[in-house]
Amino acid sequence: MVSNPHQPLRRRTGGARSGAASPAEVGPGGASAPALQALVREIELLPGIGRKTAERLAYHVLRMPAEDAMRLARAIRDVKENLRHCKTCFSIAEREECSICEDATRDATTICVVEEPRDLYAIEATAAYRGRYHVLLGAFAPLDGVAPSDLTIDALLARIGAGGVKEVILAMNPNFEGDGTALYLREKLKAFPGLRITRIARGVPSGSHLEHVSRAIVSDALEGRREMGD
Ligand code: ZN
Repeated sequence: MVSNPHQPLRRRTGGARSGAASPAEVGPGGASAPALQALVREIELLPGIGRKTAERLAYHVLRMPAEDAMRLARAIRDVKENLRHCKTCFSIAEREECSICEDATRDATTICVVEEPRDLYAIEATAAYRGRYHVLLGAFAPLDGVAPSDLTIDALLARIGAGGVKEVILAMNPNFEGDGTALYLREKLKAFPGLRITRIARGVPSGSHLEHVSRAIVSDALEGRREMGD
């Protein structure tokens, strides 16, 4: 899935809406509470949240002390107003560049390519990697209509084209989309003579996501990366 920071994909809701009025739609004394309904609708748009959970969380917010609820609202606003994508690696940043790109002690000759910022965090958590990153903001998924042009591949090629990069580690998730993206990138990266192209080892269970795998396995997968041959 492609994450466009400016236009978050919204899960289609609907269906399963009929039936008896839910508590949020019928407030005290039978009067509807539009503000509460609106909160339920917004929470329900979050991934993995069904109607019942959305209602439970909305009621929880209603009962929270005002200062706690306002802190939650501010945290949501701050994430949208103060965070952006790093102009170099497309990870999440508070300034133009993220803290890793700004860190001169990180090895600029190695770029580890991941699908999403959360994959970068999974690798950082191992403390086993001291190079730079590039976040694709998704994976090539023709069946879902995600084309290479939807990813940050051109920016990656421009970074490598600027010189100084000796190795690119392809750390996409070991599933259909991740493997397809790695193969596509390998072809593109062949244009740079002498560039070492490696893929993280298969210690990571097939079909899994880096963010859900233990630090030791992620660390081993990086350590055991192999040249990506033909
Ligand atoms: Zn960065």
